[in-house]
Amino acid sequence: MREKRPPHNPANTRVARKSGNATTVILNLIQDLARRQLPSNLSTVILMKIRICTIAPTTSLTSQHSAGKKKWPRHPRTSPKSRKVHPRSTEATQPEASASQPSQHPPISQKAWLATLKITDITTTPLKTGKSLVRIQTDAGVEGWAEGPGVNKIVPGRTASVFEAYLESIIKPTLIGENPLDIDRHWETLAQGKEDRLYKLPANIVGIIDVALWDLLGKETGKPVYTLMGGAARTVIPLYWSTGSGWKFTPQEMLDIVTVGHDMGFEAFKIRMDWKGWRQDANPTKDFAMFKLVREFLSDGQYLGFDANNGYSVSTAIQQGRKFEELGIDHFEEPLPREDLPGLKQVADALDVAVSAGEQDAYRWWFHHLVLLGDPDILQPDILSAGGPSEVKKIFDLSTMWNKPVMPHSPQAGINSMASLHTYATVQNAVRPHEFSTEFSGPLDEVAELYGEGVLPKAGNMHLSDRPGLGIELNEAAVAKLTL
Ligand SMILES: [Mg+2]
Repeated sequence: MREKRPPHNPANTRVARKSGNATTVILNLIQDLARRQLPSNLSTVILMKIRICTIAPTTSLTSQHSAGKKKWPRHPRTSPKSRKVHPRSTEATQPEASASQPSQHPPISQKAWLATLKITDITTTPLKTGKSLVRIQTDAGVEGWAEGPGVNKIVPGRTASVFEAYLESIIKPTLIGENPLDIDRHWETLAQGKEDRLYKLPANIVGIIDVALWDLLGKETGKPVYTLMGGAARTVIPLYWSTGSGWKFTPQEMLDIVTVGHDMGFEAFKIRMDWKGWRQDANPTKDFAMFKLVREFLSDGQYLGFDANNGYSVSTAIQQGRKFEELGIDHFEEPLPREDLPGLKQVADALDVAVSAGEQDAYRWWFHHLVLLGDPDILQPDILSAGGPSEVKKIFDLSTMWNKPVMPHSPQAGINSMASLHTYATVQNAVRPHEFSTEFSGPLDEVAELYGEGVLPKAGNMHLSDRPGLGIELNEAAVAKLTL
């Protein structure tokens, strides 16, 4: 009967590997010293110094390796089909050894000590929710999850076929066989390059892989992503109800949608016009009437932001902003086309209301220029568009240096939204509510059926659990049911 193994602790595993290498080195040196016929007292001194510089193996660590099968953290709903026996389980055939008798431990091959977790495949499953489920699979069975574009979303640059092309032609050949825990290294390779090879993938493609790698790291270590990022400043995060397409609605129609969020318990709101930069100054009078109606409905002082979605010129933005300020506004988002950084600075300098920008921007270097030239009051990196949790975390850190509050762009519910929330949870000065919308998520009951109730807010707040990774409870039956 196999000995019951202690719980997996990767840190201990690393120590054990060091000890195993040292044991092998010591054994070889003893043989070498004996061959050289050095005086016994000199050999003893040499061996003592070597011993001091190594880490002594412990009983539990040595027995963990000799017992073989490592207990990998697995999600309880992960399909048994996806679980594989890790190569390290072959160590189970090695004889038992005692830490108190390290010299009797059989030499352990360098290959065995260097064996590590490896990516074996990356798959996408198109779902009826309008997104696809991306899985990074490993030889230990543990998986990392993210959401990719769905096949029924015809948005240039973000279609499933575009992502599939990157996945098959670049990402899989690059990452399969690699250790998934080397997150920064993979980010650098995909976003920039490696050695003399230039990759330079779009940030939203890098971001999908990065989300899944962080989820995988959490499952492998048994810790939530926010803990691995340095610890949560809070695990209950206020959300704001975000609703868009204002350009095609009447003010009353927009108010009706705001009322839905209000009835769900939300205390903060944002209305988006979704004009885009190619419909500039199309109907600012109606925009203001819409803002006024919603502002009067939220008469208890609830948070209300206004998003022009790039739709104004400089003068219109300043005029609108002053009128909003008279009624009470909490932030004025993307008043100008994204590229007009000098114009953004004019608007931000002219208005008292906090002007925000950054949801379309990729990578920390652009955010640097955004602050230098546009100088918005609030930065709004999107978890995918900015390059994934790794990059958003860096932008958050830079924001403290720039003295800029952050407020992530994230109009959705699901895995990627959870990645944004986990990253945002680590910000000490996250005084603004996080975005939430059902417009790009699919039906919330289906989202909850797929990923668990934990991805949905309660009374306008998101409660982050201490489950490993992003806290997703993937329901394989629901995945099968909702697969296109
Ligand atoms: Mg926006």
